[in-house]
Amino acid sequence: MKIICIGRNYIEHAKELSNPVPKEPMFFMKPETAVIRNNKPFFYPDFSKNIHYETEIVLKINRLGKNIEERFAHRYYDEIGIGIDFTARDLQDKCKAAGKPWEIAKAFDGAAPLSEFVAKSNFKNLNDLNFSLDLNGKTVQNGSTKDMIFNFDVLIAYVSRFVTLKIGDLIFTGTPAGVGQVQIGDRLTAKIEGETFLDFMVK
Ligand code: ZN
Repeated sequence: MKIICIGRNYIEHAKELSNPVPKEPMFFMKPETAVIRNNKPFFYPDFSKNIHYETEIVLKINRLGKNIEERFAHRYYDEIGIGIDFTARDLQDKCKAAGKPWEIAKAFDGAAPLSEFVAKSNFKNLNDLNFSLDLNGKTVQNGSTKDMIFNFDVLIAYVSRFVTLKIGDLIFTGTPAGVGQVQIGDRLTAKIEGETFLDFMVK
């Protein structure tokens, strides 16, 4: 299983990090060892002093595909969930400044807490899916998939030009504005359409 993460897919988030709005999707990967499930805690790593949350809708790939056409892309996922793309922003900024890859800032153990996945048919409109993150009970991110620069089908078509998608692969589809730091003792609660999917502590 591999985890593909889309960067800068919401205009307001690209702006808040002073990144240009992309003309085509960009992606990076996290390994399977980044996953945290079942609301288990995230342990703050000792190599960073600035871990950021990024709340993202996650697609689960349900069939093998390469060079998937956009018009068929919806057939390649039938479940969605929500996840946190934890980012060591201090390390990422250093990597970016030096023109180095970001892996140490994105791929570390525990950097991908994930909810359960549910059938996409549970949701009326995947192109206007509301999701949010509460930090200690206060909403800090609130987004809708209608504000994505590249929708799910475009992302699947794009990624599969380069990387064969396999059953069980996950795609983090980008974060809306409002990213910020977590601290030890924080509680993170991620919701889709107002329903809690993910609820865990930073330890
Ligand atoms: Zn992200």
